[in-house]
Amino acid sequence: MIKLGGAAITDKARLCVINRKTIASTARILANHRDYMLVHGAGSFGHIPVKRYNLRGPIRSRRQLIGYARTKAALLELERETVSILAHNGIPVAPVFASSCLIADKGRIVSQNFEPIASMLKLGLVPCIGGDLVQDISLGASVVSGDQIAVNLALAFDARRIIFGTDVDGLFTANPKLNHKAKLIPNLNIMGLRKWAKKAGPANMPDASGGMRGKLTEILPAVKAGIDVAIINLNKPQRLQRAIAGKPVKGTTISR
Ligand code: ADP
Repeated sequence: MIKLGGAAITDKARLCVINRKTIASTARILANHRDYMLVHGAGSFGHIPVKRYNLRGPIRSRRQLIGYARTKAALLELERETVSILAHNGIPVAPVFASSCLIADKGRIVSQNFEPIASMLKLGLVPCIGGDLVQDISLGASVVSGDQIAVNLALAFDARRIIFGTDVDGLFTANPKLNHKAKLIPNLNIMGLRKWAKKAGPANMPDASGGMRGKLTEILPAVKAGIDVAIINLNKPQRLQRAIAGKPVKGTTISR
């Protein structure tokens, strides 16, 4: 399972700006591999409109519904562009919409139908599914992050490994964008992961899904189930290459 972080594939500070270069360089590495899935974050295509239209609480007003539709339009734009770049760089990608196969309750996935994804994998396609606004039993609709989806799918499909690509080198002792003394944490076990899930800061941009702390909290059940996790910088494609090959790589590796 490979997660393309919203911070890596979009400019999180600017509405609807795609980092095409990162997606293309990632695709060129992935083109040599088989039998994996892609999940991606929504980055500024999701977080900014979700905040603007107040789509985190219960959906009650007409304004929120319009906001929902506008957010969906932005997410579709990101999906279209991502799928296009991947397809033109040799990936047999198959876009999947979380809102078409998942139901949430208070922002947590409670039911799913992954039959189409299983069939895509069997055929040799690479399913690609993004963080999304999905139907929610309590809230009407809610944000389900790419991180939550990546872990959910990895568990459902018995993934061996999840590689989280983001815009920093891994987990640091503090947010490396705000603190120059922050040190990279190369390895963690489950105890260390629990500790850092409580500590690591949120992303410093408007983020509907909790930044690094949210990511670590989502990762916990995967590591508990024995799935190895790596957090790496997606802007350094050689690192992705090494992480896929299971070689030592600059980043944070987490295992049970
Ligand atoms: P993505 O969208 O790629 O999944 P996030 O934006 O959710 O990633 O999380 C990555 C961001 O978290 C980094 O850009 C960084 O600024 C921030 N961050 C906060 N605390 C930490 C930390 N302790 N270590 C690394 N990154 C951190």
